[in-house]
Amino acid sequence: MPAKALDARALAALAANPGCRRRAILDGAGVNKAALAGALGSPSAFGQSQFALVRGNAFEAKVKADGGTELLRLAHEKLDRGSEPPAEARVPDLTAQGPQGRTARTELALREAAGAPGAWTLLDHPMLALDVAGSPAFLEPDAVVVHPDGSWTVVEIKSFPLLDGAADPAKVGAAARQAAVYVLALEQVAARVEPAPRVRHRILLVCPKDFSNLPTASAVDVRKQRAVTARQLARLTRIEEIADALPEGTCFSPDLPAEQLTRAVEAVPAAYAPECLSACELAFHCRDRSRAEGAVTSLGRPVRAELGGLTTVEDVLAAARGEAGDPDDPAVAALRRAAALRAEALGTASREVAPCP
Ligand code: SF4
Repeated sequence: MPAKALDARALAALAANPGCRRRAILDGAGVNKAALAGALGSPSAFGQSQFALVRGNAFEAKVKADGGTELLRLAHEKLDRGSEPPAEARVPDLTAQGPQGRTARTELALREAAGAPGAWTLLDHPMLALDVAGSPAFLEPDAVVVHPDGSWTVVEIKSFPLLDGAADPAKVGAAARQAAVYVLALEQVAARVEPAPRVRHRILLVCPKDFSNLPTASAVDVRKQRAVTARQLARLTRIEEIADALPEGTCFSPDLPAEQLTRAVEAVPAAYAPECLSACELAFHCRDRSRAEGAVTSLGRPVRAELGGLTTVEDVLAAARGEAGDPDDPAVAALRRAAALRAEALGTASREVAPCP
């Protein structure tokens, strides 16, 4: 199977659930999780329609037409009004062999741009490398703009509309998380340049204006997303460490029989939470397992956090009934009080607790 490259979207999702070793190793090994989910019998509900892809590509080509004239005009208008308007921008050729070659070419172009102050430079589909749990991940932002003062801005081009200057907050949030990953990768490049250029923490989000396909843009502050992602990536367990704990010969090829594949996947601990449903292709598989085990995480992280050491629904019910658990444990005490109130409200003397339907 060809390895599936980790993109910024996948990285942002990985960083959102740093406790999941299963996702970390599958992503680290470049396993196609959508194919894996299908082979496990729990196909993912992910994927972009062909129509949306074609529309997105056509919009991006329009935004970058004429050497990026419109894109740079938007960057000047939204982020850098104090500088000279872009007249003739440099658009270096970034073609090279393989991801390593393209990463090196991008770094060279960024260094050259940093050494040519006063000019606007547009890097179209640069390639950046970011160390993720000990393995390099290659990332390809839509564009990076180098401003006349030498600072760098990440550009995200999306095909969802900006209506009256505002867009769907969930979509903007996802774009900001993705852009934050690019900002982190750019900062690693900047740290190797002397003097280090400033990587701007306000990125340029370019979208169609209202219901047209005319580009418009908004500056999005990604400081918060950048800080969260950096912290979460630092918490990821190193891939080698996870691999070392696997049984000899573990293989995740979707060609394997479902039973064997299920054993391989179950050999790696997961950390399912309802948020996985919008972020990971294996969500339906992991949700079924989590429910079958009665794990309280399937009810959400806040519930899990409230319940302290009680990790299964069975433990929780037993604690509420007074059959198990330390009465001095605040979670156990709260459960017993809730059970008593429930019994009172239902007008039953019994402290019988039944699971919710
Ligand atoms: S769906 Fe499963 S593998 Fe994916 S992040 Fe959630 S727990 Fe991990």
